[in-house]
Amino acid sequence: MKTTKTHCSIDDALCGGCAKCVSLCPVGAIRLDDGKAFIEVDECAECGVCTRSRICPHGAIQGGKLEWPRMVRAMLSNPLAKFKSTQIYGRGTEETKTNDSQDTYREGEIGVIIELGRPVLGTRMDDVERVVKKFATRGYRLPSSNPVHSWVVDPAVGSLKPEILREKAISCLVEFIVPEAAAGEVLRLIRELDQEIRTVFSVCVAVRADKAGKPRLQEVFGPEIHSIPQVKVNLGMARGILEASS
Ligand code: SF4
Ligand code: SF4
Repeated sequence: MKTTKTHCSIDDALCGGCAKCVSLCPVGAIRLDDGKAFIEVDECAECGVCTRSRICPHGAIQGGKLEWPRMVRAMLSNPLAKFKSTQIYGRGTEETKTNDSQDTYREGEIGVIIELGRPVLGTRMDDVERVVKKFATRGYRLPSSNPVHSWVVDPAVGSLKPEILREKAISCLVEFIVPEAAAGEVLRLIRELDQEIRTVFSVCVAVRADKAGKPRLQEVFGPEIHSIPQVKVNLGMARGILEASS
């Protein structure tokens, strides 16, 4: 079945009203009305879950031919959508999960990673812009490997392309490189964002261990910050750094 719509949709004539798709949508954009399901177009993040799952017994759910700027939704929300700028599938970068692959956060620097929208609420891009502006106006750098970087029109101010500001994504990750000495300011900026952002967000910081491998989170951020221990081993990912330094 072909569609000419520019967004994900449900064919009214095919829908049998079984409601199976309603609870599947991660942002609650599918509703049931008078025995027929429909998609709230502005609430849909174009994640592709409803079409990929093939949950509809009648094939009533159809993906759309997305155009700019709506395609921003799929770029951030659909794990099968590839970013042209980063050549990475999905919204993050490798450095979000590990600093071992490209050494983005060097000695004396910390990585600050803010994820907006999860769980459930999703995020509009104007909230993403609030975060970028907060850090960019202090001179903190958004790495070019972060997908949001390609949408920044003024790096000094942190403004994003205006046509994308009302677009919605399931989540969006924004990263910054900050000097260790600015850790206290980072905490203050995050408290300010808590009053300004209209969706949920979480914060992760990447702090390099010392030469002996000892964690330095509290040394950098102070005793009131506690880490939640996690272990993730990515065998071989640091090979590029080791070869470059040998
Ligand atoms: S594409 Fe994703 S966000 Fe949109 S209706 Fe389907 S499941 Fe919901
Ligand atoms: S799964 Fe299909 S038939 Fe059932 S409510 Fe959704 S669109 Fe309609």
